Amino acid sequence: MDLAFTPEEQAFRDEVRAWVRSNLPPEISHKVHNALRLTRDDLQGWAKILGKKGWLASGWPQQFGGPGWTAVQKHLFEEECALAGAPRVVPFGPVMVAPVIMAYGTPEQQQRFLPGIASGEVWWSQGYSEPGSGSDLASVKTRAERVGNKYIVNGQKTWTTLGQYGEWIFCLVRTSNEGKPQTGISFLLIDMKSPGVTVRPIKLLDGECEVNEVFFDNVEVPAENLIGEENKGWTYAKHLLSHERTNIADVNRAKRELERLKRIAKAEGLWDDQRFRDQIALLEVDVVALEMLVLRVLSAEKSGKNSLDIAGLLKIKGSEIQQRYAELMMLAAGPFALPFIEEAMEAGWQGDFPGGSVAHAPLASTYFNMRKTTIYGGSNEVQRNIVAQTVLG
Ligand SMILES: Cc1cc2nc3c(=O)[nH]c(=O)nc-3n(C[C@H](O)[C@H](O)[C@H](O)COP(=O)(O)OP(=O)(O)OC[C@H]3O[C@@H](n4cnc5c(N)ncnc54)[C@H](O)[C@@H]3O)c2cc1C
Repeated sequence: MDLAFTPEEQAFRDEVRAWVRSNLPPEISHKVHNALRLTRDDLQGWAKILGKKGWLASGWPQQFGGPGWTAVQKHLFEEECALAGAPRVVPFGPVMVAPVIMAYGTPEQQQRFLPGIASGEVWWSQGYSEPGSGSDLASVKTRAERVGNKYIVNGQKTWTTLGQYGEWIFCLVRTSNEGKPQTGISFLLIDMKSPGVTVRPIKLLDGECEVNEVFFDNVEVPAENLIGEENKGWTYAKHLLSHERTNIADVNRAKRELERLKRIAKAEGLWDDQRFRDQIALLEVDVVALEMLVLRVLSAEKSGKNSLDIAGLLKIKGSEIQQRYAELMMLAAGPFALPFIEEAMEAGWQGDFPGGSVAHAPLASTYFNMRKTTIYGGSNEVQRNIVAQTVLG
């Protein structure tokens, strides 16, 4: 594999860098560089700026309103965004449901849903997991019963990330109990403003309400919101999961956070400690190896090969790296990383933090938050099972 970028790709990178640096609001990049709390306006504001430029749908082909970039161009774009301190694009619309709508939706569904996703106007949520149906996703029980030209949906989803902002949710619903569990699942798009939808926040270890429970109580959903065929939703769900897992790896954020770790280590004097520098070097080797894997997945996706096995590997490695840099930052800041001060996540916080740098105050929150990475998107244990099955048969 030739790893050098071509002069055209370098020129593309320069163009993206210049645009991102002049369009990314500095108050947002300040928050990202310092791991501070991002509001809905921060996340959606940046999405809309990208949407206006036509870059929110960075992985989409031109026929659906995307820029039609190559895998390398998309990678360079994401790297420039991450290094500049742009928030991660909330993936549920542009990265997850859109590829399913493009691959399996009708032309009417494509015209109806894709423009709002590409512009960043419409916030999507993911309704896969349920109480008791996480790793064993095929056991979902949320029921959709066809009555005339509608489905009546009853049940509960859980761990719905940022569902408090959701306007639409794509759901796996049970439409049949015949045969294997996988064969009775359908993929339904539900307007979250419909009567009977209730969203209830779940407070996590870091004090944030990042996830929710979503309840469906006799919710009426037009049958035209069904994607593809009834009872074939499992196929569409799997298509989406490989995109989700590749996205979670987030190698570009890892590169940015590695630099932040180095800054903290230098500020706290640990940079001079050979043993600590060895830890950073080990992490850096892993980040570079992850980047190579990402490039392989992207080129496999481009050539139409099934990359699900590698997507699982990416998810495992990327999530472990995220936890590792959060741990090393805590170690580097030493006792100043210990106080868990939720308010320190707020930009401009000037609270009482005797002896330490205010910039280190959010480290405990980040550390707690990163516990999620080996669970969501399919737990790492389950990813290892998938990789083992794929490789060993
Ligand atoms: C922060 C966060 C955000 C999330 N966001 C969303 C979202 O937006 N939408 C959504 O649909 N879901 C979301 N999820 C749910 C996530 O996909 C599930 O948590 C995940 O799939 C694990 O399922 P579970 O929590 O039910 O755990 P379980 O499946 O109950 O697993 C419990 C433990 O058992 C292990 N285990 C289970 N089965 C096996 C097996 N066969 N072999 C070995 N070990 C096994 C698991 O690894 C885990 O350690 C989110 C989760 C988190 C933590």
